[in-house]
Amino acid sequence: MTNLDKTSLWETVLAELQLSLSGANFQTWFKGKTSIISINNSLVEIGCSSPYNKVWVEERYFGKIKEVIDRVTGVSNTLVFSVSSQDLGLKPKKRAVVAPSTVPLFDEAAPIIQEAIEQANINPKYSFSNFVVGQSNQLAFAASKAVSEAPFEHYNPFLVYGGVGVGKTHLVSALAHAVVLRRAQAKVLYTSSETFTNEMVAAIQNRQTSTFRGKYRAVDVLVVDDIQFIAGRESTQEEFFHTFNHLYNLGKQLVFSCDRDPGELEKLQDRLKSRFIGGLMVKIDSPDLELREAILLAKSRDIGLDLDFSTIRLLAENLGPSIRDLEGGLLRLAAASKLVGKKVDISLVESVVSLTRKKPEKNIDYILEEVAKFFSIKVGDLKGSRRTKTFVFPRQVTMYLLRHENGLSFKEIAGHLGGKDHTTVIYAVNKVDNLVEKGGEAARLIVDLKSRIYKG
Ligand code: ADP
Ligand code: MG
Repeated sequence: MTNLDKTSLWETVLAELQLSLSGANFQTWFKGKTSIISINNSLVEIGCSSPYNKVWVEERYFGKIKEVIDRVTGVSNTLVFSVSSQDLGLKPKKRAVVAPSTVPLFDEAAPIIQEAIEQANINPKYSFSNFVVGQSNQLAFAASKAVSEAPFEHYNPFLVYGGVGVGKTHLVSALAHAVVLRRAQAKVLYTSSETFTNEMVAAIQNRQTSTFRGKYRAVDVLVVDDIQFIAGRESTQEEFFHTFNHLYNLGKQLVFSCDRDPGELEKLQDRLKSRFIGGLMVKIDSPDLELREAILLAKSRDIGLDLDFSTIRLLAENLGPSIRDLEGGLLRLAAASKLVGKKVDISLVESVVSLTRKKPEKNIDYILEEVAKFFSIKVGDLKGSRRTKTFVFPRQVTMYLLRHENGLSFKEIAGHLGGKDHTTVIYAVNKVDNLVEKGGEAARLIVDLKSRIYKG
């Protein structure tokens, strides 16, 4: 089809949608925000302006769009939705988009595939199709897809790195999952570096090192998650290095994840570092607001929560930074709504959000100074051990704040306050808890102090 065909086809779709949608919905989701990017045979790629837009349009209007396109073209089409600014030029040829439904997953093949997924030790809930793509992870996503489509070729080893809960495990598992689906004959294995280490230690103890080596050296695609755990363990690094070389020399695909740039792992052997650097390393950043919204939308649908735009926005602004935090927030919201037996509304969201809203980290010195100032004593007196009433109560209040507001352990608190015994801290926190619960003057004073210190 020519460009004009694409355009006029989409205009037809829009015209029909406009009839059945409210004006606001149409303006928000379609007008100027969607288009057909390509049509190849019956594969129609629909571009959306943002990840959020994509999830929304695909979730809600897939059926309607397909119905119109099929009717106008006279054939049954496969629709693929993508974020149109997503072309990263990572692959030499035009991005081939394969919709999940075009993978030949016949009923008879399903048990075989399921078994292969189990053998590969992959958590089947992780796939590319439920990985929401945005600014912070699009490069990692595109690269992972490229590796899964053409393993052993370009990016070897392939390493994804980034902080906690940004989607590393999801992505490397999805990569392995996709290889299993496309190449029944390939032997794929997902493992964490902890499992690798534990199995190695057990093998040495039981004198079964050759079985251990056999397992890891017989694979075509080896995924090792969280390799930061092997840094600092000399014998594990040694074994890992040999496994790595063995597979690499045979042209097998190696995929890793790490919680930071491996170059920054102090105890990682240089020869391993240079191996990683020799391949492709991509970073996943923390999700920005738009990606958080898209993920919240997709995940809320998964758990059957029907949230509107303003609710999603409120959650996205207050939950995070990691995607695991978003999931946690949604689950709490679902639980809360079940508990009080009502639909999710803003007040329910606020109550859940305010519970989880991250308090700005205040540094300990600052807190000690503020408490001391409040009670007109010196920081040294807070840390000291004089047991006069003037000092004991402020000390107890400090312990209470560090415990509840900063989440420090009793031991840590003891350390910050001049190395007292941690049972002293437990006693103090309990005592102030009781005071606050009783209300009255002491409680008012503590609330006042708390708002002064943690207001920002
Ligand atoms: P990491 O391994 O980086 O700590 P995970 O891969 O375990 O993070 O991700 C944490 C949770 O967030 C998982 O449940 C995962 O499915 C989900 N998640 C992460 N990134 C995405 C994404 N882009 N789209 C959908 N879910 C995601
Ligand atoms: Mg992980």
